[in-house]
Amino acid sequence: MSSKRIIFFLLTTYLIGNLLLIFIQYNWAKNLNTLIEGNEKLAYELTVSGQLKELERDILSVESRIRGTITTEDTVFVTDLESQIVAIETSIDKLKQSPGNDSTTHYIDLLDRLVHDKLRYSRFLLGVYYFKGKPAAEAQIATQRGKHLTDSIMVTARNIELGRQRHLAAVTTTIDTSGTNALHLGIILISFVLVCGAFIFWYVINTIRRQNELIRQLHFSEKKVREAATVKENFLANMSHEIRTPMNAILGFANLLQRKQELDNESRQYVQTIQRSGENLLTIINDILDLSKIEAGMMRIETMPFSIRGLLHSVETLMQAKASEKSLRLTATVDDKLPDILEGDAVRLTQILVNLIGNAIKFTAQGGVAVRLKAGEKVNGKIQVGITVADTGIGIEPQKQQTIFERFQQAEDSVTRKYGGTGLGLAIVKDLVELQGGTITVESELGKGTTFHLLIPYAVSAEVAELPRTSSPAAITQASFNDLRVLVVEDNEINQNLLQTIFRHWQISFQLAANGKEAIQCLKQQRFDLILMDIQMPEMDGYTATQKIRTELHLSTPIIAMTAHAMAGEREKCLSYGMNDYLSKPVREDQLYDKIRQFAATSFEKNAKQISSVGSVNGDYRHIRLDYLREVSAGDRSYEQVVTEQFLEMLPAELQSLENAWKQQDLATMQSVAHNMKTTISVMGLNEELQPILDALEYESQTNESFQQLFSTLQFKCEAAIEEAKQFCQSLITS
Ligand code: ADP
Repeated sequence: MSSKRIIFFLLTTYLIGNLLLIFIQYNWAKNLNTLIEGNEKLAYELTVSGQLKELERDILSVESRIRGTITTEDTVFVTDLESQIVAIETSIDKLKQSPGNDSTTHYIDLLDRLVHDKLRYSRFLLGVYYFKGKPAAEAQIATQRGKHLTDSIMVTARNIELGRQRHLAAVTTTIDTSGTNALHLGIILISFVLVCGAFIFWYVINTIRRQNELIRQLHFSEKKVREAATVKENFLANMSHEIRTPMNAILGFANLLQRKQELDNESRQYVQTIQRSGENLLTIINDILDLSKIEAGMMRIETMPFSIRGLLHSVETLMQAKASEKSLRLTATVDDKLPDILEGDAVRLTQILVNLIGNAIKFTAQGGVAVRLKAGEKVNGKIQVGITVADTGIGIEPQKQQTIFERFQQAEDSVTRKYGGTGLGLAIVKDLVELQGGTITVESELGKGTTFHLLIPYAVSAEVAELPRTSSPAAITQASFNDLRVLVVEDNEINQNLLQTIFRHWQISFQLAANGKEAIQCLKQQRFDLILMDIQMPEMDGYTATQKIRTELHLSTPIIAMTAHAMAGEREKCLSYGMNDYLSKPVREDQLYDKIRQFAATSFEKNAKQISSVGSVNGDYRHIRLDYLREVSAGDRSYEQVVTEQFLEMLPAELQSLENAWKQQDLATMQSVAHNMKTTISVMGLNEELQPILDALEYESQTNESFQQLFSTLQFKCEAAIEEAKQFCQSLITS
């Protein structure tokens, strides 16, 4: 039954019940009144009957007192006779006024007359005695008139009595009926009240029972939800662990493989594809983990001072390569009025910007992407930073502009096919913006472009933020940590291998321990400057090992946790066990380097000098990078000279062939030259700078305009590199 029906049923029952109760109550009260009235009448009839009897007695008394006086001639018998006669008169008057019925009224009138006749005759008889003497009075008595009057009074009184008794019987019957009715109605009333009470009692008990059942079910489902959340969290943590561990190996080794000089072009491309796909996969995993964190309310928004200009510059640099790949202009401007040092979550802001700019680049074929930061109003001591990310891309239909912020929503079904993506990015961006107390809106015109407007409040920091020093992979390869000893605690062989390769590459001396127990043994035998600690290991896990290192060995050696558990709270857990920092797997070379540099500060400072001196080998060259060449030559300068001369000879020739091929519209030759050039430029470490252009020339179809644009950029950069290579070659000859 629907709840509306139940309410209607209860209301109707309540109304009917009330009407019934009023009806019963009314009739019960009426019968009770009749009963009371009957009882009053009964009492009155009894009084009247008593009065009649008294009247008869008084009449007889008056008569006998007068006769006594006449017979004995003693007036003592009639002393105070008059007052008795007056009392009889009063009594008959009262009787006359009493309500009777038709039959008794007639007799009462008769009685009244007879009583007054009798009293008059008694006074007359007494007068005869007083004035004429005893014989005359006795002669009068002998007439029997007095006796007749007395007899008539007695008979009339009897008749009244009989009439009254009949009335009394009728009253008694009424009393009986009313009493019975009142009793029945009383019983009905009580029964009704009892039934209603029982019903209400049953209803209340039933409701309480149902409520208790509901509460129990609610507790049960809450428990289930909590369990499900824990299962989900564990599942996500494990899944992330299971995926990140092999990803760690894939990305790490792909990274190392890319540096191998003996790779031919085809293999190099395969490795690049592996690396790119791995990174895409990692983005998807991170997106899903981020969403789960947001959903579970575990996404923390940190508040730290940061430089907004520095942040924007880093994001711009990061995204520039992607933009150039598609020959798009990427500009980033900051309003002068916006203070540089703000307080807030720089990581989340970077994530937002990277996502929006990434989308803008993805959905734009030509034109550009412009990022603008403006100072807005100050609200509650915080400055509203207005951020716009505008592109000249495909645009979004008006009806899709709101749904794109929902999870797994894309503006068109064809988007996935054409551009890829999961439809999670904007949902995360919106959640992150809102978590920081901001807003995000979109403005777009199909075919013309899209602009995302954001407003995020940030406190203006009094501190001067220390900008994070980023380390380039080049710096990594040249760093030398001769005095540093690192203990690597890791059970996974692939990861052991990877870390070994990286550390050898960096010339860091290290020792491997396969689990916590082995690590403790190593630490008992020798001193280490830094410990890299995996968490999940057989025999003894990373938490226990750290606890023992701190409490039993009393060592304060910095410990950096390495774990594939990327769930919220993991970092805090690691810190609470006495670890100093946290690296999430897959461990990225640059992040690992930064952490090592941070914790081995003293060693680093010492080595920094070496790095800068090694850096000077690179000279003041802005385009060419000599680290690869130096690595390959292992210090053989004549080898370096030969390679550089080859580079100087081949590059201009290849540029020329490229241009000729385009002029003749010989696309196959153009693609093959662009492909071969990649090998030439890699010798001088120009891959990062020139590979996107060469990729575009090799894989994408070009218009005359786009080719000219790409070619002139390539030519400009190659000429600059050739100039530097010449200088380098000269320095080799003269040294
Ligand atoms: P994904 O990019 O992974 O598909 P997002 O949540 O980042 O997911 O974006 C959702 C959808 O919004 C995209 O699929 C696309 O249809 C649309 N969209 C987002 N940004 C832009 C943009 N700059 N220009 C055009 N469409 C966009």
